[in-house]
Amino acid sequence: MKKTAHTNKNKMTDIASPKGMRDLMSEDYYGFQGFFEKAQEVAVYYGFKPIDTPILEHEEIFTSSIGEGTDIVDKEMYAFKTKGGDHLALRPEHTAPLMRAYIEHGMQTMPQPVMFYQYGPVFRHDKPQRGRYRQFWQFDLDCLGNEKSIMDALVIKAGMSILEEAGAENLTIDINSIGDKECRNTYLRELTNYYKKNISSLPSVDRERLKTNPLRILDSKEEKTKIINENAPDSVSSLCVSCKKHFKEVLEYLEEMGIAYNINKNLVRGLSYYTRTVFEIIEQNGGEDGTPLALGGGGRYDYLARQIGNKRDVPAVGISIGVDRIIASTWYKKLSPRIMKKPKIYFIQLGSEAKLKSLNVIEILRKAHIPIAQSLSKDSLGSQLAIAEKLSIPYAIIFGVKEALDDSVIVRDMSNRSQDTVKLSKLLEYLKELK
Ligand code: AMP
Repeated sequence: MKKTAHTNKNKMTDIASPKGMRDLMSEDYYGFQGFFEKAQEVAVYYGFKPIDTPILEHEEIFTSSIGEGTDIVDKEMYAFKTKGGDHLALRPEHTAPLMRAYIEHGMQTMPQPVMFYQYGPVFRHDKPQRGRYRQFWQFDLDCLGNEKSIMDALVIKAGMSILEEAGAENLTIDINSIGDKECRNTYLRELTNYYKKNISSLPSVDRERLKTNPLRILDSKEEKTKIINENAPDSVSSLCVSCKKHFKEVLEYLEEMGIAYNINKNLVRGLSYYTRTVFEIIEQNGGEDGTPLALGGGGRYDYLARQIGNKRDVPAVGISIGVDRIIASTWYKKLSPRIMKKPKIYFIQLGSEAKLKSLNVIEILRKAHIPIAQSLSKDSLGSQLAIAEKLSIPYAIIFGVKEALDDSVIVRDMSNRSQDTVKLSKLLEYLKELK
C-alpha cells in the first residue's frame, strides 16, 4: 500500500469514500447486522411490522414537512435534479417517507393505528466528527393513525427496550410538550416577544431563526443564547387543556413503567412537523467527557400528513434510534447475527483429484447446515492443519487422493488426533453422532 502511494501519491489519495461516509465491514458489519436483528425482534414483540421505503424521495416531501429554518432542510439535505427533471433528495430521516407511504397506499382504511419499524441509512451533509457521519443508520418505530398518549408511551418503551437489549444502561428520557395548533401559536407569540425583548444580546444566527423558526432558538448551541434561554417562557405552561392532559398521561405511563424522565423545556427537536410530545433517550455520561448523549429521539407529528399534501391530519408518533453511536459504544453487546456460525469442521483437501471434487463435499455439508471453514487455495496438509488448530475448530475433514477415488473422507478429532475413514454416503450420519 505504502509503496504504491509513493509511486502514485495523488491517485491513491483520490481513492477514498466520500467524507463522512464509510465502508461497513468485518466486526463493524456484524455489529450492525446483529443489532438490526435484535431490534427487529423486539419491535415485532410490540406489534410493529416491517416497511422499507426508497432511499430517494421527492425533495418536497422533506422541505414541506421538516420545514425551512431547520438545519436539515437549510444545510444538510443532499438534493439534486435528475436527468428527467425530477427534484429528488436522499432521505435525511425516515418519518416523512413513512407518512408518504401511509397516504399513498391508503392505509387510513386499515385498522388504526398502523405500526411500522423501518431501518436503513440516512444522509445529512453535517460536519463529520466523532460519532457524527454524513451517512448514518437509524432504526425507527412509528404508530400512525391514533392520537392517544399510550402510543407515545409505547414507542418510548419499545425504543428503550431495544437499547437495553443492545447493552445500554442508565438511560433516561428528556421530554417536553410543544402543544398543538392552538396552544403552540400562543406559546410562539410569547416566545417571540421574549426574544424580541432580548434581541440586542442574540447572536446573528439566532436573530435569523427568530424570523424563520423561533422554536429552534431554544436548542441553540450559542453560549449567549443559552443564557437568554434560561428565563425563556416554557411551552408546558402554555398548553391548552387537552394537550396538558395528553402530556400528563404520557408522564404517568412512564412513571408506571419506572422510566426515569426529565422535563426539558428547551427540548423542541427543531423539525416543524412535531406537535405535543417530543423526547430524546439520553445515555447519562455517554458523550465525550462524560456529558449526556442522545441515542434516539422522536415525538408526535399529528400535522405531518397535511404538510405533505394529505387532505386530512393523521395523528402519529415515532422514534429514531441512532445505530452508529450504539455500535461505537463501549457497552454494546456485540450482538452476533444469526447467519454467523462458529465452524464445527475444517475442510482440508490434498491433491488435484481431491481438489476437483472438494466443492461437492462442501455442498453436502452446507445442505446439512454444518458450518465449516476451509482454505481451498492452500495445497499442503501442514499449512491447512495449522489453520484448523489456530482457529480451534474441533474436527477436520481430510479429503485426499485416495478418499476422492473411493468416495470417502477422513474425519479427524482435533483434540486427540484420532481419525476415522467414513464413506461420503455415511458422513452426515457419522457427524450427527459427534458432540
Ligand atoms: P435525529 O433524527 O436528528 O433526532 O437523530 C436521531 C438519532 O440519530 C440521534 O439521537 C443520534 O443518535 C443519531 N444521529 C443523528 N445525527 C447523526 C449523525 N450525523 N451521525 C450519526 N448519528 C446521528
